[in-house]
Amino acid sequence: MPKIAACPNCGGNNVYLHKAGIAGGGYAANYLPGLGGFLRCARLYPAVCRDCGQVRFFADEETCSKLDVASGWEKQ
Ligand SMILES: [Zn+2]
Repeated sequence: MPKIAACPNCGGNNVYLHKAGIAGGGYAANYLPGLGGFLRCARLYPAVCRDCGQVRFFADEETCSKLDVASGWEKQ
């Protein structure tokens, strides 16, 4: 995982990243469609700022590497 920068909301450095991440699919929404593997969804890694509570989500390197070729994703 990339180093998580300070909180963009409050500038605080007390940001906690969930190491195992969470996976969508099944009864949960798949927030990264087309970026997972065979019968599995790509994982999201939530990061929470302890100071203000802002929540951000990150994808791992494997997931990011699929963005250029996966259908449904367009570079902005
Ligand atoms: Zn914050």
